Amino acid sequence: MRVLFAASEAMPLVKTGGLADVVGALPKALAKRGAEVTVILPKYGEIPEEIAAQAVTIAVMDVQLGWRRQYCGLQQVTVDGVRFLLIDNEFYFKRGYLYGYGDEAERFVFFSFAVIEALNHMEQLPDIIHCHDWQTGLIPFLLKTRYSNQPGFRDIRTVFTIHNLQYQGVFSRDLLQDLLGAGDDVFTGDGLEFYGAGSCMKAGIRYADKLSTVSFTYAFEIQTPEYGEKLDGVIRQRSNDLWGIVNGIDTEVYDPMTDPHIAVPYRNSLAKKRQNKLALQKELGLPVDETVPLIGVVSRLTGQKGFDLIGQALPTILKDNVQIVILGSGDAAIEEMLEAARSKHPDQMAIWFGFNEGLARRIYAASDMYLMPSRFEPCGLSQLIALRYRSVPIVRETGGLVDTVESYNEYTGTGNGFSFSHASVNDLLFTVNRALNFYRKEEAWAQIVANGARKDYGWESSARLYDKLYRELVN
Ligand code: ADP
Repeated sequence: MRVLFAASEAMPLVKTGGLADVVGALPKALAKRGAEVTVILPKYGEIPEEIAAQAVTIAVMDVQLGWRRQYCGLQQVTVDGVRFLLIDNEFYFKRGYLYGYGDEAERFVFFSFAVIEALNHMEQLPDIIHCHDWQTGLIPFLLKTRYSNQPGFRDIRTVFTIHNLQYQGVFSRDLLQDLLGAGDDVFTGDGLEFYGAGSCMKAGIRYADKLSTVSFTYAFEIQTPEYGEKLDGVIRQRSNDLWGIVNGIDTEVYDPMTDPHIAVPYRNSLAKKRQNKLALQKELGLPVDETVPLIGVVSRLTGQKGFDLIGQALPTILKDNVQIVILGSGDAAIEEMLEAARSKHPDQMAIWFGFNEGLARRIYAASDMYLMPSRFEPCGLSQLIALRYRSVPIVRETGGLVDTVESYNEYTGTGNGFSFSHASVNDLLFTVNRALNFYRKEEAWAQIVANGARKDYGWESSARLYDKLYRELVN
């Protein structure tokens, strides 16, 4: 089975969130099952120099974008045994950061065309193109329409995975029509049209042969108006083709026993884990005390992650003898709110704004608890990394958090974390308080941590499901 992953980010090349973890790790897990996976990505300026320098140009193509012909280099590099193809056009991709520019439509329409043109330069065509999120949603559409008569291409099957339905790539109809060189016929309710505009996410949902999303619960939720982001009807129409497959983490990359970023390696020893707490307290200028429970947060700063609840809960949580460490980047208003809380409690709270892989690992390693009160959560990897680093997750019961965190039950002794269902400050406070009470009961805490350690949260079982999904398309 030959699979081409098309995505806008992948570890260890570029990352802004969980998508990169998935696109980095799943190909390795599929390769262990015998699949041959190549990942195709834009060649961003952010790709580490030591990797970019090794990339070899294997083709130079022209990509037609509306009436313009654009240069496109196709490069190849193998990293940790995974083959990457890079779409090279410095005008589109050599910029300061990955997303958020005014010409987002043009950049990713270009990328979508380039991925398909790249097929002409591959030794063998893939059986499956597995597309991830809106940036690649147009690929199934283009294959089924513009390129449907190209020899060989019609046998290629497509899978579209929704990692986050909130980001949809909605652009004005005129702009998309121009870039795609498309007529009115494809901008219908059955096609790309979305409330008078055009949607790349909808293109993926309508035209891919199979759909998946990153947890069983989110697969159900996105078919409801509450979580469906106005696409629930379109998704419901395809519910027979939609699979919910929970993400794993790369357990070799995330391993506190070998993690080069953390102070003291450990696996199950809570005593050694606490030495990492002391090291982080020192690093961040917090009072050094291993008995104080430390709550960690590593997150994009967006409404999705429940920072409104965190903000309202902080003054009460901080009345207790706890420390909170937050690493995040994103929304300036959330930064301000967190900074205001920190300035009132400098001895209990530390924050670091920006993206910092090393610090993220040290927070997972140092924290006793990991707070993630998401308003919605397609899968969530942070709670899985937290579990792998023996930090007990406190989460809201939504999406993948439902599928991966089981609330502790003191009567049966089961559960690997703490959870609450309603997005309310009171419920959050109640649950944090509950976690803190059990933290002070050493035996119970050891049991909760041990329950979390029983699974490794790797990719094996989910890779088996993706393999099964591909096989339904390719016999
Ligand atoms: P999402 O994909 O919605 O951002 P996930 O929980 O699925 O959320 O994945 C987030 C990933 O990004 C995790 O690996 C987390 O550790 C990492 N991450 C988030 N914010 C930062 C940051 N500021 N610095 C370093 N890593 C971060």
